[in-house]
Amino acid sequence: MGRAFVYVILGGGVAAGYAALEFTKKGVSHGELCIISEEPFLARKVAPYERPALSKGFLLPEAPARLPAFHTCVGANEERLTPKWYKEHGIELILGTRVKSADVRRKTLLTAAGETISYKYLIIATGARALRLEEFGVSGSDAENVCYLRDLADATRLADVMQTSTGGNAVVIGGGYIGMEVAASLVINKINVSMVFPEPHCMGRLFTPKIASYYEEFYKAKGVNFVKGTVLSSFVFDEDGKVTGVNLKDGTDLPADLVVVGIGIRPNTSLFEGQLTLEKGGIKVNSRLQTSNSSVYAVGDVASFPVKIFGESRRLEHVDAARKSARHAVAAIMEPDTTPEFDYLPFFYSRVFSFSWQFYGDNLGEVIYFGDFSGPSFGAYWVHKGHLVGSFLEGGSKEEYEAIAKVTRLKPAVDDLSELERQGLGFVVAL
Ligand code: FAD
Ligand code: NDP
Repeated sequence: MGRAFVYVILGGGVAAGYAALEFTKKGVSHGELCIISEEPFLARKVAPYERPALSKGFLLPEAPARLPAFHTCVGANEERLTPKWYKEHGIELILGTRVKSADVRRKTLLTAAGETISYKYLIIATGARALRLEEFGVSGSDAENVCYLRDLADATRLADVMQTSTGGNAVVIGGGYIGMEVAASLVINKINVSMVFPEPHCMGRLFTPKIASYYEEFYKAKGVNFVKGTVLSSFVFDEDGKVTGVNLKDGTDLPADLVVVGIGIRPNTSLFEGQLTLEKGGIKVNSRLQTSNSSVYAVGDVASFPVKIFGESRRLEHVDAARKSARHAVAAIMEPDTTPEFDYLPFFYSRVFSFSWQFYGDNLGEVIYFGDFSGPSFGAYWVHKGHLVGSFLEGGSKEEYEAIAKVTRLKPAVDDLSELERQGLGFVVAL
């Protein structure tokens, strides 16, 4: 049993949706392209959607976001690709289907249903999976009130458990993106929150202590209890196997009606290990998003690609990189002679409560703060080897965010740090 396509996208997440739209813009013919995705959701099969909605609008108590509202590519203000759209464009959606092996030499994929799919060009967009507590030696992830958050099924379960926990206690494990965004949603849902993480402050890989403290103070004012510098050692269960509490390594015990775990991810590379070159935990690609096999491209969370402005490869776990790398790979495949090198400026953002921040570039070197850290808008620049390499802004306007992005890409020389501090946001607005 088998089918053949010119183009196959393996994975049906954010990158897949943006790649599909780009294929249609570049003139793919009916029947040439298929997307294979395992993402299961009850009996329904799910076409690509904007994953960021799951930790934000999806968890709101009032008028929560639900599909089909957030199918790709609404996150970039583009068309919303419903299953009907794929049909109308002659794109085969093979959903609810896991690919269990790949043979890049033969250019084939084998699905769990036993079908062989062959391709001329393959785009790997398999994303990542959430790390589980068991990988850190703690068991209990399968309890009904322990929630992870990677896909629609996880978000639906979390929303259900949240509904039955109003007025109760939640323990959030991890102080990264999931931890911060879900903690805010739990507070909005009137659930008492304790956050547990090993670092001295939240968002340890991006925020400085000063930036972290701004958000932590706000969370504390909303009743969030931060338990830092420690990790979970075990769960306490009732006779039905439900978690009722957590024990921490520092000896603290916390009551829990609900536990949310956000302790990082691992890229889904296993199908290609031993067949493609790996780097930084992902699949290594060149500036055309092409892997070590010239018929195979990789995009999104799973790809480690050259970031020109840093002069080194990075694997980025953010939606903007997924969208743009996907589009670029399609352009590189369909228009090889006119597609330039992928020249990406890293961009991260988050929205929690009424806050909204954006970060561009790299958080390396000395940090210069600006704005009012007691007010609605403030920010920071990172200056490395005499050049501005990174910019953070909370509460900016559209024009201000565009200005920090534009200037960060230029890596302007900074001779006088105190002058940069004096000028603050004016530095980028003026350039
Ligand atoms: P994914 O979107 O993860 O898609 C991978 C797809 O591959 C999935 O459909 C999966 O089922 C499928 N797949 C994997 N293996 C197989 C296989 N063997 N066979 C078949 N199918 C397979 N980033 C931001 O910048 N801002 C945000 O606000 C933000 N919020 C987020 C909120 C949440 C809850 C999560 C989980 C992530 C968030 N991110 C955010 C990160 C962002 O969503 C990811 O960077 C992005 O989804 C990566 O896209 P991708 O297509 O590479 O992978
Ligand atoms: P992150 O990598 O952002 O954060 C993981 C956090 O968990 C870190 O603080 C990490 O500390 C901590 N941690 C690691 N191990 C343990 C442990 N055993 N116990 C307690 N804490 C631990 O991953 P998330 O899970 O928060 O997010 C998953 C993915 O989703 C990421 O790719 C992220 O980019 C994406 N996402 C992005 C959003 C956005 O961009 N706005 C929003 C939501 C998700 P340490 O740093 O010391 O390892």
